[in-house]
Amino acid sequence: MEVIEARNVVVGAGVVGAAAAYHLARRGEAVLLVEQFGLGHTRGSSHGATRIIRHSYADPNYARLMPRVYQLWHALEAQSATPLLTRTGGISVSPPGVPYAELVEAALVELGVPAQRLSAEAWNQRHPRFAVPSGSTVVFEPDVGILAAGRCVHVLLHEAERHGACIQPNTPIDRIELETSGVALLGKGLRIQADRAIVAAGSWIPILLPALAQVLTPTRQRVVYLGTADPGYGVGRLPVFIWIGAREEQAYYGMPDLDGRGVKMGRHHGPATNPNQADERVDEAYVDELRGFLRGFLPELAEAPLAATETCLYTMAPGEEFLVGAWPGRSDLLVAAACSGHGFKFGILVGEVLADLATGQTPMAGTERWGATLAGFLQG
Ligand SMILES: Cc1cc2nc3c(=O)[nH]c(=O)nc-3n(C[C@H](O)[C@H](O)[C@H](O)COP(=O)(O)OP(=O)(O)OC[C@H]3O[C@@H](n4cnc5c(N)ncnc54)[C@H](O)[C@@H]3O)c2cc1C
Repeated sequence: MEVIEARNVVVGAGVVGAAAAYHLARRGEAVLLVEQFGLGHTRGSSHGATRIIRHSYADPNYARLMPRVYQLWHALEAQSATPLLTRTGGISVSPPGVPYAELVEAALVELGVPAQRLSAEAWNQRHPRFAVPSGSTVVFEPDVGILAAGRCVHVLLHEAERHGACIQPNTPIDRIELETSGVALLGKGLRIQADRAIVAAGSWIPILLPALAQVLTPTRQRVVYLGTADPGYGVGRLPVFIWIGAREEQAYYGMPDLDGRGVKMGRHHGPATNPNQADERVDEAYVDELRGFLRGFLPELAEAPLAATETCLYTMAPGEEFLVGAWPGRSDLLVAAACSGHGFKFGILVGEVLADLATGQTPMAGTERWGATLAGFLQG
């Protein structure tokens, strides 16, 4: 049995774990990050080329945190001399009777973030490729953008290593044991004795920490890329779009063609799944459903050829809330389940919160509710 002693151990090299290692290492903390697969694998939630970043949230609690999130990503771009965020502009759209776009507008006004509200007719006139249904509300935010997801994770890990972190891929942790002091992380022929452990294992959190299996549900997400040679669907021409309809499953998002693979699109919800069973199928019925939505929103694109597909995991929590904080009664075990399909942009802030909690500092105001949510679920 190999026994390793470590001060801070991070489980998971997705955007959250990578960000936690990055922030801790930059503060001079010794960090060991373990990942069950190889770095850059495509089995979890953080792979692929792109993720949307926006201030445009209907929930002002999340919107208020976004200026800090943008600041942190821009700081990482400067530190690493690597472009990570492409500004594209973006629209939040909802039909009559669904207050999503109006709530987004209210949050942006509160923050003082530039934005414009338009009727469907006015938007369609300005962007003739769109056919937003009459009566809908459109809120355009110029600062919406795209994060280069895979590159973001790579740069976070690289910067963490540059500041002394040790990154160990292909090291699955099978069990976590709380000891009188410290935490033991056990794998095949391996025992890691940690002063502090940070579990950022995404969809595997309910497996590693079964007490959370009641509240966290891994779901399988399918993404399509629709190929078009029309420059009108490129960056600077087609904004990011988010449509929230009357029924929960009528939630669609899309983004302009960033890298020549086509317009990326998906539905926000997906079937529950077991993260240990990889399934990369994207069924025809799902593609037809997306085409059906596009026929009433971006009609030309609905008929574009399918250029590529991709699958990925969400870790859904009730109310799409984040659970980030210390295990009840144990400041040496921190957990971060910050996903529900909108966690990538926040990864760099969640990492900062974890580093603050680990080093006894007070995290940013507005993030403490994530710890209360975790405690609430664990203490019932
Ligand atoms: C299709 C899709 C579109 C999305 N779009 C957006 C978007 O536009 N904007 C946005 O902000 N968010 C978006 N998200 C959500 C976002 O990608 C996730 O919230 C985020 O990537 C979660 O990161 P994570 O680090 O928590 O999880 P992961 O990236 O899954 O990282 C967890 C890591 O832990 C490792 N691990 C698990 N168990 C163990 C173990 N036992 N031992 C060792 N390692 C282990 C896993 O292998 C994995 O690498 C999207 C997600 C999907 C799937």
